[in-house]
Amino acid sequence: MTKKNFNDFSLSEDILSALNRLDYKQPTPVQQKVIPVVLEKRDGIVKSKTGSGKTAAFGIPLCELVEWEENKPQVLILTPTRELADQIKEDITAIGRFKRIKAIAIYGKQPFVHQKTELKQKNHMVAGTPGRVLDHIQKGTLSIDKIDYLIIDEADEMLSMGFIDQVEAIIKELPSERTTMLFSATLPEKVAQLGDLYMNDPVKIEIESSHSIDSHIHHSFYRTDSAGKLSLLKSVTVVENPDTCIIFCSTKDRVDELVQELDRSGYTCDKLHGGMVQEDRFAVMNDFKRGDFRYLVATDVAARGIDIENISLVINYDFPSKNESYVHRIGRTGRAGKTGKAITFVTPKQEHYLTELEAFIGFQLNEKVPPSEVEAAQKTNDFETKMDVLPDIKTNKKERVSEDIMKLYFNGGKKKKLRAVDFVGTIAKIDGIEAQDIGIITIQENVTYIEILNGKGPMVLQKMKSTPVKGKQLKVHPAREK
Ligand code: ADP
Ligand code: MG
Repeated sequence: MTKKNFNDFSLSEDILSALNRLDYKQPTPVQQKVIPVVLEKRDGIVKSKTGSGKTAAFGIPLCELVEWEENKPQVLILTPTRELADQIKEDITAIGRFKRIKAIAIYGKQPFVHQKTELKQKNHMVAGTPGRVLDHIQKGTLSIDKIDYLIIDEADEMLSMGFIDQVEAIIKELPSERTTMLFSATLPEKVAQLGDLYMNDPVKIEIESSHSIDSHIHHSFYRTDSAGKLSLLKSVTVVENPDTCIIFCSTKDRVDELVQELDRSGYTCDKLHGGMVQEDRFAVMNDFKRGDFRYLVATDVAARGIDIENISLVINYDFPSKNESYVHRIGRTGRAGKTGKAITFVTPKQEHYLTELEAFIGFQLNEKVPPSEVEAAQKTNDFETKMDVLPDIKTNKKERVSEDIMKLYFNGGKKKKLRAVDFVGTIAKIDGIEAQDIGIITIQENVTYIEILNGKGPMVLQKMKSTPVKGKQLKVHPAREK
């Protein structure tokens, strides 16, 4: 029997109420199939189109399965980019909010020591890029002896040349008694077979097998020579006038050049590529997710897995270097049942790649005639008006789960021999507070952070100013970081 409601799975109240807050009314097709398989702890290979809800397909059952009491990580999730690792951590944290699931993201270019301290805390799940994960495993700063579940997201990318050695090295270190699952929208048979090596009789799940591309996306292309691309881009964007748009280029230099051009022409735009420092990468990503600017110019670093609400248009300014890359790039639009548009520029030299691409995706792209000067001129006014107003700020839907949460700072931690039970014991004794109102607790050497849920933060704050913990009166105030 297919399970059409989240209530049909045996999920605990904690998880169900988080899904409710996230406004996930029904499991998507891939979730209907995958949730029971994970709950039974079976291995699996899952192919399902972009934007179909694969993260929650593993995130929901894993949040259900992990044992809260265990301090060492029980789940390892591998991803190709840092932005994706971070996004998955956020998704898991939202789903596991009321079970107080602690997830952490680890990736390169962030100080190792910082991650090392975070890894010493209680963490149920770790999401990370292979290089840094391996590094932590080899240095003994990520303990893996309790890892029961391994998720390889964007599996075809992870098992390809660039990552396979690191991924294999990680797998060799993990306990052999574990559940392993692969996920992607594009999963060639060859890769799936490679995956078999690490799995035990995996269940194969393929949703809408005809092709991996969302039928909500309208695909078209323009012929142009290299020299004409910029002016074509300008007239196409004027005519399309999207609310938000990602423009993909082949290299970071191409991204740098294009964003400069667009900036000079008054576009609200920013860029993302692997040559930027990590803080900038995250800042751009967050600003774009919030809707601070309309045009993101990016390399394929933004192609895989990144989930941004309401991207209405994706433009392949440079033709993708692999057929799979086309699928993932354009999969940034038309997510979660929404509609979207994908436009690709094709130069004469790339004609045969287009034919190959069409064979790969199983249908033809619609050829379009470049907008005429008259048409572009007619639309310029609307375009400029839109560029003058900031996009609607999007409230991150994950924030909805956290909206009645207040994080409190206490000036005592491990050094004062304080443990989570001491805090829980004290706070739960306050009138009107129950254990369920206490969220994630992070105890460091000298400080402790505690989330108070359900809008009860201010009340707990007030009480704790005059209530000792284990005989010690601590200073308490709202934490600066969210
Ligand atoms: P995929 O990994 O398949 O590309 P994601 O897991 O990133 O897709 O999910 C795409 C979007 O769909 C996300 O914004 C996610 O929050 C949303 N989503 C996931 N599951 C559901 C659901 N059951 N109902 C509504 N929206 C959902
Ligand atoms: Mg995904």
